[in-house]
Amino acid sequence: MGRLIVVSNRVPLPAKDGSPPAGGLAVALQAALKERGGIWMGWSGKTSAEAEPGPLAIEERDAITYALTDLTATDVEEYYHGFANRVLWPLCHYRMDLAEYGRKEMAGYFRVNRFFAHRLAPLIKPDDVIWIHDYHLIPLAAELRQMGFSNRIGFFLHIPWPPADLVVMMPAHQEIVRGLAYCDLVGFQTDYDLQNFAGYLRREEIGDEVGPGRFRSHGRMFRAAAYPISIETAAFAAFAGKAMASSMVRKAQQSVEGRDLIIGVDRLDYSKGITQRLEAFERFVVTNPGYQNKVTFLQVTPKSRSEVPEYEQMQKMVAEQAGRINGAIGTVDWVPIRYINRSIGRNLLAGLYRLASVGYVTPLRDGMNLVAKEYVAAQDPEKPGVLVLSRFAGAARELKGALLVNPYDTEGTANALAKALSMPLAERKERWRAMMDHLLAHDVAAWCQGFLDDLTAGA
Ligand code: UDP
Repeated sequence: MGRLIVVSNRVPLPAKDGSPPAGGLAVALQAALKERGGIWMGWSGKTSAEAEPGPLAIEERDAITYALTDLTATDVEEYYHGFANRVLWPLCHYRMDLAEYGRKEMAGYFRVNRFFAHRLAPLIKPDDVIWIHDYHLIPLAAELRQMGFSNRIGFFLHIPWPPADLVVMMPAHQEIVRGLAYCDLVGFQTDYDLQNFAGYLRREEIGDEVGPGRFRSHGRMFRAAAYPISIETAAFAAFAGKAMASSMVRKAQQSVEGRDLIIGVDRLDYSKGITQRLEAFERFVVTNPGYQNKVTFLQVTPKSRSEVPEYEQMQKMVAEQAGRINGAIGTVDWVPIRYINRSIGRNLLAGLYRLASVGYVTPLRDGMNLVAKEYVAAQDPEKPGVLVLSRFAGAARELKGALLVNPYDTEGTANALAKALSMPLAERKERWRAMMDHLLAHDVAAWCQGFLDDLTAGA
């Protein structure tokens, strides 16, 4: 196999001091790039002052070439904020009501994908394998093919793929989906996403499944399969064990002494179901008064995409809701909800997961949800906590030992909290073991290897 070229909207450029990157995905892809030699290309995150961004900024770090491009202010507005985050993100999270489609934004989306292809082209060698990531870059493979590249190209979608009824609500859906047919392999998070994709091709009569996982569309044959993304399970478990010695984690432990900790961790996003979660927590306390002053619900919610109005509104709404609930059910010596609107470092986070009796992960829709997997990996095997998990997270397809809930069902979710907090140790251990064994066998390195093996098979 030739070199690997990874293309993603943002690139996790390693810190100059050599400290490891924050996420498991970056670790896994960097390991694959190092093994084969390779390039990681994407947007620098910077807006160029010029009408046309300058040449790629090339940085060699640790045997990997990072190739970064700036984008113009118009590109950022139309491609990134406009089409990717205000059309594709809401649509793929089943929120067409929040999508704001505009032709200008869609044109910007295609223009930037073409620009990426032109910037990448001089770096591509004939036997390089190209792996494109996520919804920002769906048309990229088609652009590269149009330029004459016949390299193996894979695409992985990190977010959900919705059912056909939703996809067709997006104007120009056929032009968008067409890009995927120009790949050799398309990866989705779960079998449900894959089924939705196959159903869309059938419904629109633009493709067929000609064999298991083999598709024909736009005059091309390609494969598609589910590759559930994961975490560095063993490393995260070891990390969580060590985190318990840190003074921040010990302070947090002291502050919840005598109470069960329930933890929720999500970027502030409407897909995460934070308001429904707070409401279900309130219902749980009201209907189980024995738990008054016996639980603390810590919700860690770093701000994200504050430039999009829905996110700004949500920030206000969640803060007000947490305040209202604390006012309604709190007592002079008990603040039921601790709401933190900042990002927390992975060390403290791992320790907090381990301290928590319940991992409370209830998105309304999520491609995977790595927090659910991290919570499981961080548990003490001798006294593991319980994962309360939305059935609408991709992770629910794998984590069968969780208490699965429907976040739209406030009573059902409140009951699951009560069940989690009163679960006997033997059952907690049994449920946790099954999930942990699965995550050890299916970690992010196995995910990366599995996708690349399939992409290069028959190459
Ligand atoms: N995270 C973090 N600090 C925080 C909140 C989240 O490091 O304060 C990390 C978390 O550990 C996880 C990631 O952000 O690895 C969130 O991934 P997930 O798949 O759950 O959701 P996404 O944000 O990708 O939708």
